[in-house]
Amino acid sequence: MKVIKVGGGCLKAPRTIADIVDLMAVRGPGHVFVVSALHGITDSLIASMATALMDEDAIPGLIGRLKNRHLQIARRVIRPKSHGDAYERDLSESLKRLERLYYGLNFTREATPRLTDVISSYGERLAAQLLAAAIKSRGLEATYRLPHKIGLITDGKFGDATADLKATGKNFERHLTPILKGGKILFLPGFFGVSPDGDITTFGRGGSDYAAAVAAVALKAEVLEIWKDTDGFMSADPRMVPEAELIPVLSYEEAAELAYFGARILHPRTVEPVRRQKMKITIKNTLAPDAPGSEIRARSPRRGNIIKSVAHDCDIAILKVHASGVGARPGILGQAASAIAADGINIKSVVTSQTCISLLLARGDLMDAREALKQIRPRPYRRIEILEDVALIGIVGDGIQHRPGIAARCFTAVADCGVNVEMISFGPSRAALYFLVNKKDLESGINAIHSSFFSVPRCQRLG
Ligand code: ASP
Ligand code: MG
Repeated sequence: MKVIKVGGGCLKAPRTIADIVDLMAVRGPGHVFVVSALHGITDSLIASMATALMDEDAIPGLIGRLKNRHLQIARRVIRPKSHGDAYERDLSESLKRLERLYYGLNFTREATPRLTDVISSYGERLAAQLLAAAIKSRGLEATYRLPHKIGLITDGKFGDATADLKATGKNFERHLTPILKGGKILFLPGFFGVSPDGDITTFGRGGSDYAAAVAAVALKAEVLEIWKDTDGFMSADPRMVPEAELIPVLSYEEAAELAYFGARILHPRTVEPVRRQKMKITIKNTLAPDAPGSEIRARSPRRGNIIKSVAHDCDIAILKVHASGVGARPGILGQAASAIAADGINIKSVVTSQTCISLLLARGDLMDAREALKQIRPRPYRRIEILEDVALIGIVGDGIQHRPGIAARCFTAVADCGVNVEMISFGPSRAALYFLVNKKDLESGINAIHSSFFSVPRCQRLG
């Protein structure tokens, strides 16, 4: 049995959704689909909270728009009409519950994390309901189950929950195995589970991949398949490097590193549940379902190119904290990191030297993080500096930290095209080497490295 995750990026135009339903009808029987919300729905559910909070009269309009969006697709994918009518009734039921939540929000005037999680979980619920109805209208057996009714148990952390795999495994076995034995197609909304206290808790934005991984492990699936609108992981961003290639096989470690970059192929936490089970993940392109795609497994092949990908991240800024002897004095790093974390800001990475701590942050967090540091008393640093014109390049491949010559070759390639490396960081991962360049040099830097490792015939590549 497979668990197949269908991404919101694929669930956009009615025509592509109709093609995906066709594909599900052929490939789905006996398998489980974990689905994302239709494209853009989670964003609008969350944005609508601010509207609903301020203006009660706007609520019916918000609900009406959600209804129209789903009905527009239903008209395309659900036939005959009798099925369409039944679906419309179910949809109205679900939306009535959501509408009550928005009114509750308006009444209490407080967007609590609890309420935010319940409301944002509706996109996935509506998608699962719609797709199950579409499959049923074709005379196939399909059904959907809600995570909180079948015991997808989480640790209860709103907006960033982690699943309890053991409890979930037991519950799924009881509730889902009988359904699957009959060869039905089973739909599960991704993105959320339920705490031991019964609260809906989401896995964070983009968390349906993780939800699918949890379901795959809980159901002891043979494989986790991720359906997307791209072939898989690439050796570089093809918009920057035209000769970028598909990566046919990569390891969990490599996939996890690459997931942190802007490529948005996979949510970074997806490999967490599956790696212990050594379960394979495959990426499939719904627009080219017979293409091989990328496969993620415990080990990537040792032959061929040791570098799998030259990735980058433009959403990066540096906060430099200057203080004498920071490398030798305990405490400063901890103080700085705690002050920043207390404001809910994520530190992407840290590089320290004797005189300076460099904190790598998302651009949008830079000013808030600086403010947080300024509040520390007594001031443990001499000066704070910010750097914004930077971009991160990462070369990713299992074992690159142990292979002599890789870093040298990478930096020679960069230097040969006149690009200056601003900062280097060998992360804690064995599979990645990161460094920063000036933003204007990003494209030439990536291309120089990529052609140094990839633009030679495969048989001659430094293996
Ligand atoms: N719909 C959720 C989001 O947009 C989860 C997901 O699609 O993975 O964040
Ligand atoms: Mg989504």
